[in-house]
Amino acid sequence: MSANEALKQIPIQQEHVPGATILHPARRIVQYLTLLILVLIPTTGLFRIDMEAGGFILLDRQIWFSDIFIVMGFWVFAASLLIMMYSLVGSVFCGWMCPQNTASEYANMLTYKLLGRRAEMMDMSGDQMQVAVRRQSVLNYLLLGLGLLLPAMLYALIPLIYFFPPSAIWSFITFSEDAQLAGSLYWIYIVCVAVFLLDIGVIRHLMCKYMCIYRVWQHSFKTRETLHIQYDESRSDHCATCHYCVDSCFLDIDPRQTAVFDSCVNCGECITACDELHSKSKKLQGPGLLSFAIGADEKKERERGSVASFFARAKLSSLATVTGAVFFAIGIAGYQTDEFSVYRSEAWHGAKVLDYRINVAHKLYRPTDISFRIEGLDKDVYQLEKSQVHFDTAGRQDVKLHISDSLAKGLYRFRVFASADDGWSGVFDVTHFAPGGG
Ligand code: SF4
Ligand code: SF4
Repeated sequence: MSANEALKQIPIQQEHVPGATILHPARRIVQYLTLLILVLIPTTGLFRIDMEAGGFILLDRQIWFSDIFIVMGFWVFAASLLIMMYSLVGSVFCGWMCPQNTASEYANMLTYKLLGRRAEMMDMSGDQMQVAVRRQSVLNYLLLGLGLLLPAMLYALIPLIYFFPPSAIWSFITFSEDAQLAGSLYWIYIVCVAVFLLDIGVIRHLMCKYMCIYRVWQHSFKTRETLHIQYDESRSDHCATCHYCVDSCFLDIDPRQTAVFDSCVNCGECITACDELHSKSKKLQGPGLLSFAIGADEKKERERGSVASFFARAKLSSLATVTGAVFFAIGIAGYQTDEFSVYRSEAWHGAKVLDYRINVAHKLYRPTDISFRIEGLDKDVYQLEKSQVHFDTAGRQDVKLHISDSLAKGLYRFRVFASADDGWSGVFDVTHFAPGGG
């Protein structure tokens, strides 16, 4: 065997920054999963807005402000989790989950593919879009337009599914008649498509760089300890003629000089770029020069261990998250699926009140029957409009209760009982003044 052949048989050990090779595919999976979750949240009944009831739906239940434990618990839980995320991993939401960024990256990729590497739709420098000469065909522009219009049409559907039930959305897509849909909805949808098309086609990452208030809000929780890009300066000679990491950053940041309050969204694209460059280069030894780091002192962090390090930084937010979860669980356990009240009717008989209105609300989005009975009054002195009401879904109904004016003058206390076939029951005490003389 020749020396050359023997050399070829020695396996080449490639060094990588830990996780660098899977960062890009992992981020894409998280981005698409986020879009899927955004669609599944309202369609599975996890969270939706009920415009008719003027409230929101959580776990297929109509939630009112009187369901205070659920409302408070949910917001404390969600807000503290988000604050914990901002202070630990910075603007990771933007880089890994934000639908705006997902669409912008997709639009950039499609533009590069169809019009060439240097084609950009909008640049604050005012430079014109540069289309590669060999790609200046009508077909490429048409494909790009279509490739941007389709996601804009899908994105414009997402807000709608938070306001309408899946059955109404299906009617909307299939142009079927549906009482739940207003005729103007198609116009609203067209406006939404136009806004999303402008955003995906033209604005793209300018939104992230200059317009996104949510990113600024996340920044306010960042510290020196927050997840950031770390640069191995001891091997900075590798960068002499290289600009690869800066080119790979869609926010035009130089990852070798990241600061606490810069626009970095911890997407990790620069880490993958530099690591790939090193793994392919025969000249550049070792793994890439960029990596993720958390905490100001990496050695101390390692000694402390990841769990202890996590709780040291997120003590308060963890406590708030647990408190929120407990509040939420208490709220769900004590949730009333139906509620009712008895009001004096607006119908007056001279100076007498003889009519009452039983207002019953069913808060679950499934059918039920609710029955009523009166205790404390003889059957012949009152008339109940109906002793049972049926609900196909969540909603409200009124039942009239008339008290005879034949009752002798005085105060009468009676109770209205309501019970649903799903096990719920309630009682309402009424004090009725009978003026007598009927
Ligand atoms: S890709 Fe790596 S080697 Fe190239 S400039 Fe960036 S940090 Fe330096
Ligand atoms: S600097 Fe790196 S991690 Fe930060 S946004 Fe740019 S590519 Fe992503």
